[in-house]
Amino acid sequence: MVLDLEAAGPITVLVDLPGCVIPWEVETFEVPKSDKITCDISRPRITYVQGNKIFLNTSFKDAECCYKGLIRRPDSGSTISKTEECVKIGEETYVTKYDAVVVICNVRGDVYDDYHAIVRRKTPVPSNTDVPNVVIIGLDSVSRFHFHTLMPKTKQALDELGSIEMLGYMKVHNDWYQASPITMPSVGDNTFPNSVAFLTGYKLNQVIPFCFNISKIFDICPLIWNNISMATAILEDAPSLSIFNFFNPPATHYLRPLMLATLNDNYPHKMMFPCVGSRTTETFVLEHIQQLMEYEAPLFSYTWLTSLAHENVDNLPGADLVFSKFILSLNLSNTILVFMSDHGHRYGNSRTTFNGWFNDKLPFFTITMPSRVKNFLGDQRIQILKSNSRKLTTPFDAYHTLRDILEAYNVKEFDNPPVMINGKLFPRTQGQSLFSNISPDRTCAQAGIPKDFCACADLRGMDLKDPIIQKTVRYAISRINKWIPRRCRVIDVSQITAAAKLNENEFVVGFTTKPGGFQLETMGSFDGSMKDYRISRVNKMTAVWCLNDWFLEFYCYCDFFGFLEELVLGKYR
Ligand SMILES: [Zn+2]
Repeated sequence: MVLDLEAAGPITVLVDLPGCVIPWEVETFEVPKSDKITCDISRPRITYVQGNKIFLNTSFKDAECCYKGLIRRPDSGSTISKTEECVKIGEETYVTKYDAVVVICNVRGDVYDDYHAIVRRKTPVPSNTDVPNVVIIGLDSVSRFHFHTLMPKTKQALDELGSIEMLGYMKVHNDWYQASPITMPSVGDNTFPNSVAFLTGYKLNQVIPFCFNISKIFDICPLIWNNISMATAILEDAPSLSIFNFFNPPATHYLRPLMLATLNDNYPHKMMFPCVGSRTTETFVLEHIQQLMEYEAPLFSYTWLTSLAHENVDNLPGADLVFSKFILSLNLSNTILVFMSDHGHRYGNSRTTFNGWFNDKLPFFTITMPSRVKNFLGDQRIQILKSNSRKLTTPFDAYHTLRDILEAYNVKEFDNPPVMINGKLFPRTQGQSLFSNISPDRTCAQAGIPKDFCACADLRGMDLKDPIIQKTVRYAISRINKWIPRRCRVIDVSQITAAAKLNENEFVVGFTTKPGGFQLETMGSFDGSMKDYRISRVNKMTAVWCLNDWFLEFYCYCDFFGFLEELVLGKYR
C-alpha cells in the first residue's frame, strides 16, 4: 500500500513559530508488509496468571505442569538462579514467594516452558484514592512519522481517548560524547541521554559526576520514581541493552530478573528477543502492565520496549493491533498514559532521505489523561499543554511535566534545591513543565539541542557537484583520517548522496566512503574554512575487530598491515 499523506490531510508544518519552524515534506511512503509475530506455535499457552495465581488452560487438561521460582542474586544485577524444586501446578495454584516463575509443562510427552511475572499487592492501599496511575510506555527508535504511518490503529485509539501529541518533541543531545577529548562526531547511542533527560531532568554530562561513575551504577541517581508514595514498576524488555542497571531492585515490581532468565534460557547470544514463552515480548509486557494496574493501583510504571523497532521499524505494523487493543482495553478512568519514543530510526535507508533526517530527530510523544485528571489539574493547565503541542519541546520538558503531576497529587517530595555533592549544587538547567507556556521564540539552543540535532531547519536541496559541497566532504574525510589510528585504513569519498543548505553558510551533506561503505553525514558552516562541523555515521555498524573505542570504531575499516605499521611508526598518521 502506498500512503498518500497529502490526501489524508497532513500537517505540513509541524511547528511554525519565530524561534522554530519544523517543515514537513509530504512524501509517499511504502508501508512495509509485516507479518505478525507468533510465538504460540512452538509454545502453546498452557498456563496463565491472574495476580499471584497460576491457572491451567482448560484446553490442556492433561498437561502436567510445575513452576520454579526465578531469583535474582542480591549482590548482582545480572545473575538469576532457579529454585531446585519444581512445584506442581493444579487447576489454580498460588505463588506466594516469588515475583517471577518459569513454568515447565509436559503434554503427552512434549515438554514446553513459559514465563510468568507474579503480581501481588506489595504496597498499602492508599487513603487518597484520587491519585491516578501514571503509565509510561516507550518504544525505542520510533519517529512521529513512523508511528503515524506504521501504527495507524494505535494512533486512532489514542485519538479516540483525546490524547495530546507533542508535534515538536525533539531528541536532545548526547553530551557524553561532547566530553570526549577528540573533536567529536555525533555518533552512538541516543537512548541513554534522552532517557536520562526524561527521567532525571538532567543532561547526561550533569549526572555523570554524581550518579553514574560509581559502583552502584544508577542506584543513587535522582530518578523520578525514587521515594514516590505509589507502587512502582520498571519494565524493560531487553536486559542486555537495558538503559539502567541497579544494584538493588529499583521498584516495587522489576521485570529484569524474568527477562534475564528468558534471555539466558532461549536467546543466549542475542541482545533482543521476540517472544517471552508463549507470547510476543510486547504482549507479555502489556499484559503484565494490566495486571499491575489491577492489583497495585495507584501505580507508577515505566516500560521501555527495545526489541520491537530498534533494529527495524518495519516490525511496527505487526504490533499495531496489540497496542491498539491494549490502549482501548485499559481502564483509563484514572490513568495518565504517556506513550512515546526517544528518537527516530537512526540508520538504514530510511535515514538517508531528507524526511529520514527529520525522523531521526523527532520521536513521537503523546499524553492521554482522563477527564477526572484534567478536572483535577484544571482547564488552564490543559489548554496550555495543548498550545505547547505545536511548539519545540524536549524530554527535559517531559520530566518537568511528570514532576508537576506528581507534585499536584502530593505523592513525591522533590529534591528541591537539587542534588548537592561535596558542597556543590547540581541545578537542573534545562526544560520547563508543559503545563507552563513555552515561549514561541524558543530556539534549539535555548532548549538544549545543538545544531546537528535540531529539526528547526528549512532544508533546501543543493547540487551535489557544487564546489562547496565537495569541499565540505573533503574536509570531513580529512578530519576522520586524522582521528583514526594507523590500524584503520585511510578512507576516501565513494559517493556524495545528498546535500542541502540550512542557511547562507550552513550545509548538511550525506556521503559514502571507500573502503567500508560507511554512510556518513556531515554538517557545518563554511566561511572560507569549515567550523562547527559535526560528523555522524548513519548506517549500521558491524563489529570492528581491531579497535575498542566507542567513537572511532564507527569510522574504522581495520587493516592488518596497518596494525603492524602502528608498532613501528606510532599510532596516528
Ligand atoms: Zn533509543
